[in-house]
Amino acid sequence: MSEFDLLILGGGSGGYACALRAAQLGLSVALVEEDKLGGTCLHRGCIPTKALLHAGEVADSSRHASEFGVNAQFISMDMLAVNAYKDGVINKLHKGLQGLVKSRNITYIEGHGRLVGKNVIDVNGVQYSGKNIVLATGSYPKTLPGLDIDGVQIVTSDHATKLEHVPSSVIVLGGGVIGCEFASVWKSFGADVTIIEALPHLVALEDESTSKQLERAFRKRGIKFELGTRFASASKGPDGVTVTLENGSTFVADLLLVAVGRGPVSSNIGYEEAGLTMDRGYLIVDDKCRTNVPGIWAVGDLIPTLQLAHVGFAEGILVAEEIAGLNPRAINYDGVPRVTYSEPEVASVGLTTAQAQSRGHDIVEISYDLAGNGKANILKTAGSVKLIAQKNGPVLGIHMVGSRVGELLAEAQLIFNWEAEASDVASLIHAHPTLSEAVGEAHLALAGKPLHAHG
Ligand SMILES: Cc1cc2nc3c(=O)[nH]c(=O)nc-3n(C[C@H](O)[C@H](O)[C@H](O)COP(=O)(O)OP(=O)(O)OC[C@H]3O[C@@H](n4cnc5c(N)ncnc54)[C@H](O)[C@@H]3O)c2cc1C
Repeated sequence: MSEFDLLILGGGSGGYACALRAAQLGLSVALVEEDKLGGTCLHRGCIPTKALLHAGEVADSSRHASEFGVNAQFISMDMLAVNAYKDGVINKLHKGLQGLVKSRNITYIEGHGRLVGKNVIDVNGVQYSGKNIVLATGSYPKTLPGLDIDGVQIVTSDHATKLEHVPSSVIVLGGGVIGCEFASVWKSFGADVTIIEALPHLVALEDESTSKQLERAFRKRGIKFELGTRFASASKGPDGVTVTLENGSTFVADLLLVAVGRGPVSSNIGYEEAGLTMDRGYLIVDDKCRTNVPGIWAVGDLIPTLQLAHVGFAEGILVAEEIAGLNPRAINYDGVPRVTYSEPEVASVGLTTAQAQSRGHDIVEISYDLAGNGKANILKTAGSVKLIAQKNGPVLGIHMVGSRVGELLAEAQLIFNWEAEASDVASLIHAHPTLSEAVGEAHLALAGKPLHAHG
């Protein structure tokens, strides 16, 4: 039986990042994957959705071209061409990743793996052993009782990233990140979109002020939503899908996207038999991603941390470095940058007001309106940069809404993770005219010396 220092089950963001870093550190590594190297993020998540969103942005630019003095016209979406563009991006990245894995001398094992012992994974009848096993089997799109996902009229994000037509109307069940991104895509593509969300707000994990701004912006774009109402049932007919809510109201559309969250892929692959501690299917780990069974680690969407590709990368790297004896620092999950890539974008790092208050911080807050920012006016985008800081202390949270604000997180996460105070940032010069000036202006205002701010 071949034995490796690290045997990794699952070649998505968490698994492959762990493999690449471990190989770099001189460990012998094998990576088991049953589908495609790159996992959800590359093939059905981050990359395809962002390509669709970009196609939507181009469509919107053509619609609004005359506002900028450009003679152009939106005619229609050519989904064949959109998918060719999107798949081109995916294929290029996929090839690059395959090359990277090969160049680091990682043993790539194709097939369905199953944990059959503390140190052993069986892949289609062949057994491999690892001094350390890293489980990175990721997640799948969840559904609700009574929903018959047929991939045609009732779909999940897996189908939605491959759709070959633009539906004339869509109901998006779930107003979280994935639901809002698809709502944004389809509205840009010309569909009539309604989001149904049981919680009182869209992107409910964000600061409440952010959710309200996104709701305002979506309303302005003609994206409809029903908040605080629970789904009761759905039925399919010749006119499309009819969705009934618990309050009795009904909605009909061509397509229903079910975006009610993702659950861990952890059943029937030997995890229970190995005695791994689980909660609702998630593997429970400590702050170094160790499970309760010595020598078995778990990373990515399989554990109950933020379901983000870059969190998977960070956890994979952490495990590789811990195994190599580098004693890396545990991840501060508050410091993970988060983006919803809709139009407008939502970007945040650190605590929301509610979190800061519930943790007992004495806080001060400021919101800088993008109306005062030159570049935002040039782009014709609206939104804000909100700061939450400890009174006479560091910045605790940065929350942004507006076109392209995701790009501002690079600076925002440094501010949060280096525990900067408003006055530290206020003394830094931001290039004019950029959206990043809004980050600078917000800190100037919080430091008591606002420049381009009224009142
Ligand atoms: C629509 C959508 C959009 C998203 N957008 C973003 C975004 O913009 N930014 C972001 O940071 N995150 C985004 N995410 C989340 C991101 O994709 C995930 O957090 C990330 O892919 C998790 O990585 P992972 O390695 O834990 O799991 P996965 O990427 O799911 O990889 C797990 C891998 O394990 C394999 N596997 C499972 N079981 C077995 C087995 N028994 N044997 C062999 N192989 C197995 C699977 O085939 C899969 O390739 C998005 C997700 C979705 C669905």
